[in-house]
Amino acid sequence: MLRTHNCGELNIAHTGKTVTLSGWVQRSRDLGGMTFIDLRDRYGITQLVFNMETNAPLCEDARKLGREFVISVTGTVAERSNKNPKLTTGEIEIIVEKLEILNSSKIPPFTIEENTDGGDELRMKYRYLDLRRSNVRDNLMLRHRMAIETRNYMNNIGFIEVETPVLIKSTPEGARDFVVPSRMNEGQFYALPQSPQTFKQLLMVAGFDKYFQIVKCFRDEDLRADRQPEFTQIDCEMSFVTQDDILETFEGLTRHLFNNVKGVEIESLPRMTFADAMKYYGNDKPDIRFGMTIKEITEVAKGHDFKVFDDAELIAGINAENCAAYTRKQLDALTDFVKRPQIGAGGLIYVRYNEDGTLKSSVDKFYSEDELKKWAAIFEAKPGDLLLILAGNASKTRKALSELRLEMGNQLGLRNPDVFAPLWVVDFPLLEWDEETQRYYAMHHPFTSPKPEDIALLDTDPGKVRANAYDLVINGVEIGGGSIRIYNKDLQKKMFTILGFSDEDAQAQFGFLMNAFEYGAPPHGGIAFGFDRMCSLFGGSDSIRDFIAFPKNNSGRDVMIDSPAPVKQEQLDELKLKLNL
Ligand code: ASP
Repeated sequence: MLRTHNCGELNIAHTGKTVTLSGWVQRSRDLGGMTFIDLRDRYGITQLVFNMETNAPLCEDARKLGREFVISVTGTVAERSNKNPKLTTGEIEIIVEKLEILNSSKIPPFTIEENTDGGDELRMKYRYLDLRRSNVRDNLMLRHRMAIETRNYMNNIGFIEVETPVLIKSTPEGARDFVVPSRMNEGQFYALPQSPQTFKQLLMVAGFDKYFQIVKCFRDEDLRADRQPEFTQIDCEMSFVTQDDILETFEGLTRHLFNNVKGVEIESLPRMTFADAMKYYGNDKPDIRFGMTIKEITEVAKGHDFKVFDDAELIAGINAENCAAYTRKQLDALTDFVKRPQIGAGGLIYVRYNEDGTLKSSVDKFYSEDELKKWAAIFEAKPGDLLLILAGNASKTRKALSELRLEMGNQLGLRNPDVFAPLWVVDFPLLEWDEETQRYYAMHHPFTSPKPEDIALLDTDPGKVRANAYDLVINGVEIGGGSIRIYNKDLQKKMFTILGFSDEDAQAQFGFLMNAFEYGAPPHGGIAFGFDRMCSLFGGSDSIRDFIAFPKNNSGRDVMIDSPAPVKQEQLDELKLKLNL
């Protein structure tokens, strides 16, 4: 028998028992008369003791064990004199009587400990060693629990998990597709799904009513930090539902996960319109763990000969409470922050509301204290507060204020990763105008339904049409998004026209869906959650890579298996592909 117990389960109650354990040598300490070894497996660490006096040959063997050797030992459980309260097995040790080396190990390229000395690339190259580290393993255990709890919850409320195909068809809408050449259909390609969107809608036409799937999706996008070319969604769709039904169902899932995985009770989720999110937070993913909302002073601040303000479309700012004592240096740093090219503000105006009630600003030349008082009232500021104000083009200023607000939130410790503030952002615009290509794009995707009361605007002012679309946002991160779908062929066709598709193109690419709508399609809608991101949020990390067993690096490479990689000429010939490099 290779083991009677695992390395995480023995305790004082097992004292005197003969046990067999197997695992990896985490660490060994040779104290002359005694050799101690920490034996590790998935479940924990158990201390082994080899005694020179009672069994010299065995002790000699133990001294030769290197880190990460795989061994099996038999011995007696004994109470430890030197207890380690940090380990569940910290009260006992095993007095070893028999040692078997199951496999040796080269010296690992980095230390297999919580705080490793291994850099990112090295850890990715030897991911199987990185995965031995307890914190990385814990991340994947969390992911497992999230998946199981999701399946339990969805199953309990009548959803069925259906697999949809991975080899599908390329469509130009959305991100770039990964394509796969077809050997049997010369010159033709499959594409990997960016999401199972059309298939889940077809499952609704088929009458499945409630579908979900924990599913891999693929997007060939330029990799921004912490994006993965393949990622996982909890993908869902329901029939005969309104937006409210969907929000309630998935509010339930969200609360279930928080409760069962994190032990955190979440109250009902607030709902905020897209318009309000932009107005008060400058962002459609507001972090509502803290207030500091954007206040506008355009009306009162104009007309005082301060050109920057007079020329501005929007003058607005935030109130950093209790920050009036910020030093010149701190304010300069904030000014540099907003002037960085990624943020692009022209400058930063501040007003100190001093403890003694006086107001002092960086634009005192133009504004009397009485004028500043009016601003302070709009900001709901009190003595001790600091107003930070930006001005310019409205949407740019809002974006910059959003960044400044998040930065101040960080500086003031208002973004505690142990606090969770989920909300729904609703009423997204249906379309987004793109200046460069001079056309509308679907803000969510082309299958999203306009709000019925806005449908008439499609002909007159498409940019104003709101969608029955919603996002789940938690702590400033978009965790999920979905919509009520179009289920009428003519409306779907019209949508494609607005998006610049010719009738032929729309038919060629999405004819299958529009045809299906002619065979009794029920009203339906759904949502998809970014599962990797959800896991990282639950795990209190910013990095989704830490929650994926075998992730790709920032250039989309798997450095462990060294992929992507060239293929043999014969493979290309078989596919009738010619490289043109
Ligand atoms: N398929 C959509 C997405 O991947 C989600 C949805 O609308 O259900 O974002």
